[in-house]
Parts: sequence; structure tokens; C-alpha cells
Amino acid sequence: RSKDAGGGTFHCYEPQLHVQAEERRVLEMALRKALQNGEMHLNYQPVVAADTGELTGFEALLRWIHPEFGNISPVKFVPLAEDARLIAPIGEWVLRTACEEATRWNHPVRVAVNVSPEQLHNPAFVAVVASALAQSGLPADRLELEVTESVFMKEGTCAIQVLEKILDMGVRLSLDDFGTGYSSLGYLSRTRFSSIKIDRSFVQGASQGVPEAIAIIRAVVALAQSLGMATTAEGVETEAEHLMVQDLGCSKVQGYYFGRPLPVEEARAIVNHGQRDAAAA
Ligand code: C2E
Ligand code: MG
Ligand code: MG
Ligand code: MG
Repeated sequence: RSKDAGGGTFHCYEPQLHVQAEERRVLEMALRKALQNGEMHLNYQPVVAADTGELTGFEALLRWIHPEFGNISPVKFVPLAEDARLIAPIGEWVLRTACEEATRWNHPVRVAVNVSPEQLHNPAFVAVVASALAQSGLPADRLELEVTESVFMKEGTCAIQVLEKILDMGVRLSLDDFGTGYSSLGYLSRTRFSSIKIDRSFVQGASQGVPEAIAIIRAVVALAQSLGMATTAEGVETEAEHLMVQDLGCSKVQGYYFGRPLPVEEARAIVNHGQRDAAAA
């Protein structure tokens, strides 16, 4: 390469790009073997009723502990898995594992599983859901899938039809991270969501008294109520945040204040030893 090709910035920038590309390549290779090497497991975070604190379910959250690199956040590896076309097999494993583990809980609480848009763009996903339910014996109404607004952005996709078929099985659907994407309200009225999850950024803003955050939560709650949907406030970390979102009418809450994502044995202990413990955890 010519030395004066990109000026000074060229030389500053390139090494960092190189490291990022190299890190991606290494992580992607490791990701290809992660499942078969047993490096992945699920954590479960309690979701509770805003008014009574009663446990209503758990959200399954994927964890990857690499023997050399340690714990890698899903914020980092999920997008990588999506780019490398690895999210379908990984997502299928998450779904089957969550359904199986949920059948071993004593109470009929729900389990929520995050689903990437790429999984919904494949019609074969309908059969994967049916098979996960049939093999585990989990009743369909105890499974909830969480999707984000980005599902509805891609044109000419079968995602809506795939969702419709899954809804027809009796599986519930919630809209994750609401307010963070490029929202179009049209699909909200056309899709049978059970609940809208309000992103943590609004919860934080509201408890800090940011008028816009309060206005947005108020509007989402009113919209959800008029469409017959529940609202879940995400990332509630303090009592003040809990009181704020409860006051604004959110029906469910989830966050470190009510419980961190837990290993499956601890989640099972919470359900099997009484529901009030969940709120106190
Ligand atoms: P998400 O679905 O919105 O999940 C909520 C995230 O917020 C989780 O992060 C959870 O640990 C975190 N969280 C919960 N309560 C609090 C709180 O009070 N304060 C703060 N600061 N954070 C809280 P996590 O586990 O790192 O997951 C991040 C994202 O990765 C998820 O966001 C989801 O989009 C994605 N993800 C996780 N597991 C899966 C999976 O199995 N499949 C797919 N496709 N995506 C997944
Ligand atoms: Mg989620
Ligand atoms: Mg979320
Ligand atoms: Mg989120």
C-alpha cells in the first residue's frame, strides 16, 4: 500500500480495525464449537406482577463461558452469531433447553425465550417450536417468545406468517425493548402480542424525573391497555423505579431489584419454595 494513501488517519485507524476483525474471526470460530463443547447454558430472570410481587415467569438468558476467554456477553456474541448464520442452531438449542427446564418447575409459571429476526425469517421455525413443545411436554401457553421491532422492518419476509402460526399453537408473544427501534405502530395492532416490554432506558429516565420518559411510558401503557396487552418494565433496579413504573400503570416488572438472572437450580428453588421469595430476592 502507498504510504500517503490515507494520510495520518489511515495509520491510526487500521490497527484497531485489524484487531476487531481478528477478534471477530477468533470468536466466530469459537462460537461454531460452543454448543457441542457444552460451553453454553441458560440463566433465568424472574418477572413479577407489579402490584403483588407475585412471580409470573422467568426470562431465559443465554450465557457462554469459553474455557480460555471466560464469560462473553450475549450483547457481543448474539449479533456475531446472527452474522455468521449460527443463530438458528443456537436459538433452537435455547428454545428446547428452556422448554425442558421449565417442565421441571413445580408451578405453572411462564418461560420467555428471546428469538432473533433471522429465526423468524425461516418457515421451518414453526416446526422447531412445535417439536420443542411436544418433546418437553410444556403446555404451549407457558411458552412466551420475545421479539424486537426489527422483525417487522425487513420487507418481503415470512416472519409475520411464521408468528401467526406459532400464535395459533397457543404460544404467547411479547415485544422486547420497545421504544429503542424504529417503531411503526401499524404492526402492533396487527400482531397478537400479549405484552410490550418497555426498555430500561425509559424506566431509568422516568425515575430520574425526565418528563419525556414519563410521557412515553404513560403513552405506551395507554396504547397497550387499549389493545388488550400487558406492559412489562425492564431493568428495574431500585425501589424508586419500581414505585414509579407501578404508578404509571405497568403490569409487570423485571430487573435486578426483583432478582438477577439465576442459574437454573436457583430459579427452580424459587418456584418450588413459594412465590414470595422471588420478590424478596
Ligand atoms: P433482553 O432480552 O432485553 O434482556 C434483558 C437484559 O437486561 C439481560 O441482559 C438482563 O440480564 C439485563 N437486565 C435485567 N435486569 C436488569 C437491570 O435491572 N439492570 C440492568 N442494567 N440490566 C438488567 P443479557 O442477559 O446480557 O442479555 C442481553 C441481550 O442479549 C438480551 O436483551 C437479548 O436481546 C440478547 N439475548 C440474550 N439471550 C438470548 C437468546 O437466547 N437468544 C437471542 N436471540 N438473544 C438473546
Ligand atoms: Mg428479552
Ligand atoms: Mg429487553
Ligand atoms: Mg433490553
